[in-house]
Amino acid sequence: MRAIQIRESGADPELVDLPIPEPGPRDVRVAVRACGICGSDLHILDGHIPTQDLPLTLGHEASGVVDQVGTDAVGVRTGDRVLVNPIVVCGECTACRAGRTNQCPNNTVLGVVGAGAAADYVTVPAGNVHRIPDSIDFATAAIMADAVAGPFHAIREAGVQRGDTVAVFGLGGLGLHATMILKQVIGARVIGVDTYDAALDRAAGFGADVVVDARDGAPGKRIVSETGGGVDYSFEFVGSNRTVEQAIRSLRPGGLCTVVGVSSEKVELGFGLGTLVAKEWSVRGSYGYVSQDLDDLIELVGSGQLKIAGTISHRVSLERYAEGIATLRDRSLHPIRVVVENDHTG
Ligand SMILES: [Zn+2]
Ligand SMILES: [Zn+2]
Repeated sequence: MRAIQIRESGADPELVDLPIPEPGPRDVRVAVRACGICGSDLHILDGHIPTQDLPLTLGHEASGVVDQVGTDAVGVRTGDRVLVNPIVVCGECTACRAGRTNQCPNNTVLGVVGAGAAADYVTVPAGNVHRIPDSIDFATAAIMADAVAGPFHAIREAGVQRGDTVAVFGLGGLGLHATMILKQVIGARVIGVDTYDAALDRAAGFGADVVVDARDGAPGKRIVSETGGGVDYSFEFVGSNRTVEQAIRSLRPGGLCTVVGVSSEKVELGFGLGTLVAKEWSVRGSYGYVSQDLDDLIELVGSGQLKIAGTISHRVSLERYAEGIATLRDRSLHPIRVVVENDHTG
């Protein structure tokens, strides 16, 4: 089968020919139909996310058709259309048993530790596939597995309610999906914040009520004055101190900022402890998502209640994977999500 691998951290991805993997007793094999390329893949290629099991097959946002089921795998059948949850967990620790699988200390992510899905086939534990209805196409299912589920989890954990005012910082794929979830599912008022005209324009197109150009470096202050005191919630999808600080400064007293963006920066915020205390601000992180998030998302998207069409900006084949990477790096091409699509004839 074809697969996209890196030989070492920081190396260019290569198209290689590998044997088709055999599923273990509790695993299933998925004939991959679509696999997203995401910012995390760029971090892996740049060596910012450490990898193991080199050479490594990339890819953690996948969907496809189950084509073989392990002897002890339950709840899945050959021929099922599925999306793949790339977060593999132990299922036995305190966090797993409480349903907080994203906090499993033994969790690994496909395509970071162990073979990913930028390939013709991938094997995963049976519990990591979620059946999707015919109303969800494979490319959409692939990005739901990560780029939609991440913001969905963050919004749910924050507890945003209908009518709340929310600022979304960073209007790439995650921020746009957050905007859609907040508008279509929750019924919140959304202020989109970014430093690129194209990002601001498309956020308005995807339903943001107001967009704020952050190029002056002080969008927090402007949001506070425009909302008459600040937003109830803010979400940061960039992963930089400067943006986190602005996302916190945009809050009303008692507001909650959720940080989803990551980088190697140390937390350094340019306001005093006294301000944090006086404003009663809360700041939290949000990592990944859990099985329940995926089930709920499949229901929302499958029924048409959440429409996430329009954020897949580019589609490539496995042979053109490098072009997909280059597209994701080139802002002049206005990439949102890039998806690899596989033709499966055999
Ligand atoms: Zn991803
Ligand atoms: Zn666990």
